Amino acid sequence: MELAEIEALVSKIKQDIECCECLKDLVDVKNEQLGKKSTFFSVALEGLNQMIRTAPIEEKKKLGALINKFKTDVLDCYNKKEIVLKEKLELEKLKEEEIDISLPGNDYSAGSKNPLFVIRDEIIKFFTSLGYDVYAGPEVENDHYNFELLNTPKDHPARDMQDSFYIDERTLLRTHTSPVQARTMLKNPNTPIKMIAPGKTYRRDDDDLTHSHQFMQIECLVVDEGINLAHLKSTLEKFMHHIFGMKRTIKFVPSYFPFTEPSFEVNVSCANCHGKGCNMCKGTGYIEVLGAGMVHPNVLRMCGYDDTRFSGFAFGVGVERLAMLRYGIDDIRRFYQNDVRFLKQFKEEFRK
Ligand SMILES: [Zn+2]
Repeated sequence: MELAEIEALVSKIKQDIECCECLKDLVDVKNEQLGKKSTFFSVALEGLNQMIRTAPIEEKKKLGALINKFKTDVLDCYNKKEIVLKEKLELEKLKEEEIDISLPGNDYSAGSKNPLFVIRDEIIKFFTSLGYDVYAGPEVENDHYNFELLNTPKDHPARDMQDSFYIDERTLLRTHTSPVQARTMLKNPNTPIKMIAPGKTYRRDDDDLTHSHQFMQIECLVVDEGINLAHLKSTLEKFMHHIFGMKRTIKFVPSYFPFTEPSFEVNVSCANCHGKGCNMCKGTGYIEVLGAGMVHPNVLRMCGYDDTRFSGFAFGVGVERLAMLRYGIDDIRRFYQNDVRFLKQFKEEFRK
């Protein structure tokens, strides 16, 4: 075999490699021409080996180098082609997976606020628009602030209505947000106050349709010179109209709370019968909504106020109660169950 023939064979192999259109073609070429049983390349190498055997010594070295050169050339050619074809395949894949940004997107449904927060935020907005400050206090509270400063000393029977979770003898989970009022009064004695205190409260209640061991409350306190019952009534009327609508009327029913004197349950006319009496309001025409009253002089005194100069009113409302009445929700537990079917019904309220 002549050297020229061998060179022609090698260049034929390289040409075949160059002509491959895809990786599969390249693998075929490798199997057919470069493998041990392959034709062209082994023929070429065999030809060279024969030449080495018969060549003079000084030629053997050159031919050996030539074998290596052919091998390297073919291998380089193969490797380069492989890289090119892999890149080509990658580009084709990318092209297939190209995203068309002009297509309409998927409609993911947005979440919504829990109705309790809808109501809470609405109440905060309402009172701040009337010039009230918003205060917060600790949920783990001292007995002194939770009861004693609110005219409910140890062994007072009114404590029975507010049994709670005690951390130790003097520390409990607050049963109302009223301790925030006591804390605020003590900070600046004998200065006018207009405040609300929204927050979580706890009582040792069995959970049922209308009770939960944890619930939200918003308490309101106004202390100034000359504050009287008319201020309380007009404030509550505006507040109830804001929450339930202008057609509802309110009435005060005498009640008892240790921290107010006089004390009232505030009732709102029934949305179903407008005061005539129906099943929903148990024939009374009214539904109890919250507790209110004039701040007890003992509370004013204990919190550093001169009760001969200052007077005040206070009321506390359960956020769950308001939400249940406004939306006709029949079970307090629904607020805490995170059932999306329930929660998404209040989406529009959130957007308002
Ligand atoms: Zn009714």
